[in-house]
Amino acid sequence: MASVLLQNSSSIPLTHWVAGAAIEGTSGRVSQVTNPATGEVTGQLPLASAEESARVIEAAKAAFPAWRDSSLAKRTRVLFRFRELLDARASELAEIITSEHGKVLSDAAGEVARGQEVVEFACGIAHLIKGSMTENASTNVDVSSIRQPLGVCAIIAPFNFPAMVPMWFFPLAIAAGNTVVLKPSERVPTAALWMARLWKEAGLPDGVFNVLNGDKIAVDALLTNPDVKSVSFVGSTPIARYVYETATASGKRVQALGGAKNHMVVLPDADLDLAADQAINAGFGSAGERCMAISALVAVGSIADALVEKISARGAALRTGDGRRRCQMGPLVSKAALERVTRYIDAGEAAGATLVLDGRKGEFDADGDGFFVGPTLFDNVSPDMSIYTDEIFGPVLSVLRVDTYEQAVELINSNPYGNGTAIFTNDGGVARKFQNEVEVGMIGINVPVPVPMAYYSFGGWKNSLFGDTHAHGVEGVHFFTRGKVVTTRWVDPAERAEGSGINLGFPQNT
Ligand code: NAD
Repeated sequence: MASVLLQNSSSIPLTHWVAGAAIEGTSGRVSQVTNPATGEVTGQLPLASAEESARVIEAAKAAFPAWRDSSLAKRTRVLFRFRELLDARASELAEIITSEHGKVLSDAAGEVARGQEVVEFACGIAHLIKGSMTENASTNVDVSSIRQPLGVCAIIAPFNFPAMVPMWFFPLAIAAGNTVVLKPSERVPTAALWMARLWKEAGLPDGVFNVLNGDKIAVDALLTNPDVKSVSFVGSTPIARYVYETATASGKRVQALGGAKNHMVVLPDADLDLAADQAINAGFGSAGERCMAISALVAVGSIADALVEKISARGAALRTGDGRRRCQMGPLVSKAALERVTRYIDAGEAAGATLVLDGRKGEFDADGDGFFVGPTLFDNVSPDMSIYTDEIFGPVLSVLRVDTYEQAVELINSNPYGNGTAIFTNDGGVARKFQNEVEVGMIGINVPVPVPMAYYSFGGWKNSLFGDTHAHGVEGVHFFTRGKVVTTRWVDPAERAEGSGINLGFPQNT
């Protein structure tokens, strides 16, 4: 069937998406959407009022009973159709991501592919949601467990993965029989509106997937409305903490994923060329705007000089510019991000770190007034400097020098964040010790960005995640369903006449 619904980013109107239709904003409040590679304003996004937010939640609530009661076979067919459509049109979505986020097209395509893996995982919902049954747990008594959907599930997303982060959650939420209100980041709203149209084309009933555009007012409405049963949030740590505290206080199930400071440890026995390549990929991919980006490289022992030299040579050769051109690194998402990252580079220099590559200067392959900072490398960074203590969220890699493996682990475990970390070594015994000792949620061994596959769960420790359940995988299935245990007695017809007798004691199994 030819697509009648989908359009390119410039022709998707910036609206809300409610009960299967685009709805204009009425609050009178807007925020500007820009193309970060050129600085051009590309649209005005409506920011919902509390009343508009309540109407979107109401639409999701109204769609819940019918979707909950539709068979697993029907739900799975819609999931498969969504998967096929996404597969056929992934490049459209990647172009939209690049035009609002700025990341290069190949990186945007990679993000779509990782999101699609969660859709594929959710296609197996019939198996994932299966309960269990025990016959004759007590005489004539059977026990079974089932998992049921929650109701309206809110998803509040950050700017840095406009498609993948929402897809960590909504495929499983929808497959399990819930309805969804997605609030995308104000900076990158079009991917969500594009995916909403894709769902409609896949045959998802109206109201099961809704998009609410807005800022704190919309978020607060989602956190406090009693018809919202769960909140899946991804963003910076202060907001994640606020979301967790506010939404749990109103009785909701919450998973709030926060910021990060990810360390890559390089031991003296590591392959230094591999380590240097991977430090570049993980430090400067997506201009460092990944929650799994490596921002602190911990060089152990005598290899530090050689490693810094190799990273510096590779970093200097990177092409930075408009993500639609043949570049390896795109711009930062906004002028504010550019100014923030620039301030951190100034601060690192002032604090006495050695500035090996300075991204404030450089040639950028783009037209207009884009938000560019080139690859930046600091050496001799100490743990008290703000370039180490803070999440910069830009292409700034800090090298910290330590003498021993133990000092490297101590550094990581003292850090308040615990999202991802990596160790580069050829010693399996040390690698195994590291995975056991380090207080971080996702570990890479000679792998710098250890993002788990869809059938495992994604999530950090400490200030990188508030809540008990990580995203997708089996933990995601559990988050979007709740358990029920049914105890059943059916008596053999031949024994019915005897009755069960009166016994006011606490039931015991016989
Ligand atoms: P952000 O915290 O500014 O925004 C995230 C969401 O919260 C957006 O939808 C935004 O509209 C909303 N929001 C912003 N301010 C708010 C407020 N005062 N009250 C209520 N809601 C508010 O984050 P961002 O800049 O969009 O994304 C970058 C951050 O996200 C980084 O810290 C990054 O590490 C983190 N992140 C974490 C993960 C992870 O898996 N842990 C993944 C991706 C991004």
